[in-house]
Amino acid sequence: MKTLLVDKKSGAPIRVKVGKYTFGENEKIIISGPCAVESYDIMINLCKELKALGVHMLRGGAFKPRTSPYDFQGLKHEGVKILSEMGKIYDMPIVTEVMDARDIEELLPHVDVLQVGSRNMYNYTLLKELGKVKKPILLKRGMSATLNEWLNAAEYIMSEGNENIILCERGIRTYETATRNTMDINAIAYIKENCRLPIIVDPSHGVGIRSLVPRVALGGIATGGDGIIIESHIMPDNALSDSKQTIDMDTLKTLIEKVKQLESIIY
Ligand code: PEP
Ligand code: MN
Repeated sequence: MKTLLVDKKSGAPIRVKVGKYTFGENEKIIISGPCAVESYDIMINLCKELKALGVHMLRGGAFKPRTSPYDFQGLKHEGVKILSEMGKIYDMPIVTEVMDARDIEELLPHVDVLQVGSRNMYNYTLLKELGKVKKPILLKRGMSATLNEWLNAAEYIMSEGNENIILCERGIRTYETATRNTMDINAIAYIKENCRLPIIVDPSHGVGIRSLVPRVALGGIATGGDGIIIESHIMPDNALSDSKQTIDMDTLKTLIEKVKQLESIIY
C-alpha cells in the first residue's frame, strides 16, 4: 500500500504557521469565540475579553451547518465582514467554516484559517479545492469517521499541494447518549505518534455540556493536543447556537491558566 503524505514515515512533522503562532510546537494554541457570529456589538465586546484573557485566535461561524434548516444559519457574508474587522481591531487571526467551494474565494482575503466542519469531512470536491489554496485548513473529524478515513481526507488536501492542515478531534458518535459526542482522546495520542500533522481538540462539540468542557479540554491537551478550540460567549445562555456547550469568560480564564500549567509539565 502507498505510504500517505500525512504518514510520519513520509517526512518531518509539519508545523502550521498562522500569523505569529505555530501549531505543532511547544506552545498550546488557544482558539475561542462563539459558535456563530451573531452581531457586531456582541463580537466587539466578546473579543475585547478574549484578547485580555490571552486567547490567540478567534473562532466564529458565518456559514452554519445546522441540523435543522429552520435554525439560525449564520450571518453569512455579513458575518465574514464582522470577523474580518475583529481580526484587524484585536490583532487576532480568524478561523471560520467554509461549507461550499464557491465561497472559498470570498473568504480568502478575510480569514486566516478555513475550517472544514465535521459534516463536510467527506466532501472530496471541497477538500480538493482547499488543496489548491495556501491558507491553513482546520480539518475536523467526521462524526462517524475512522482515523483512516479522516487521515485520507487530509490526504485529499495535501495531495493537491496544501500541507498546511491542522486536524481537529471534535468527538465521535457512539452508543452513549448522556453526552453529545464521545471525545476520542485515543485519536489524539494515535495521531501524534503516527501522523505528521498537528492536532487540536474541540471539547465543546466533543462533550456538549458546558460544565464538562474544561475537564475534557485538559484531557485532550494531556494526550498530546497542540491546542484547543472552545466555544465561548459573554452571555452563553443567550447564544443563538450551541448554547448548552458554550462557556463564559470566567470559566475560560481558569481553563487557560490550567492549560498553561499542563503545557509546562508536558514539555
Ligand atoms: C462548529 O465548529 O461550530 C461546528 C459546526 O463544528 P462541527 O463541524 O465539529 O460540528
Ligand atoms: Mn458549534
